[in-house]
Amino acid sequence: MRCPFCGAQDTKVTDSRLSGEGDQVRRRRRCVVCKERFTTYESAELNLPRIIKRDGSRVPFDGRKVRSGMMRALEKRPVSTEDVDAALARINRRLLGSGESEVPARRIGELVMDELRGLDQVAYVRFASVYRKFEDVNAFREEIERLERQLSPEATRKQLDLLGELEKKG
Ligand SMILES: [Zn+2]
Repeated sequence: MRCPFCGAQDTKVTDSRLSGEGDQVRRRRRCVVCKERFTTYESAELNLPRIIKRDGSRVPFDGRKVRSGMMRALEKRPVSTEDVDAALARINRRLLGSGESEVPARRIGELVMDELRGLDQVAYVRFASVYRKFEDVNAFREEIERLERQLSPEATRKQLDLLGELEKKG
């Protein structure tokens, strides 16, 4: 493998280990000439389904686009790259496992939303708001409220208190 820093042909592998969820090999390499270090990833090439875009055109699945979309949603959020990689690996596996040769782009968006929902709620809402293009402010607010109801222990407690109040009155 050629050195990306100086272009030398000769680089040495100094470390090799599994990464992702074991479906990738991560190699640390060192250039024999300029001594710079860099990392390469090796993974099996599998046939992911082609993506059917909204206008009906077909494009190859592009994992980098999925990653950059997720990263945009996760900007400044406390989620590790490892967790993002694991989420992407799950998305790939689900696509491979579907056995479909073509899937609508919408399906990819749904898979990403499923993963983001588990990783970070703020990122999920960011992604969903762009992706679903919430038709109006109310639909967006409803989604936020649904999330708040699901997640905040405070909100849950308040609701329970309210229920208690109502029961006392009734
Ligand atoms: Zn070099």
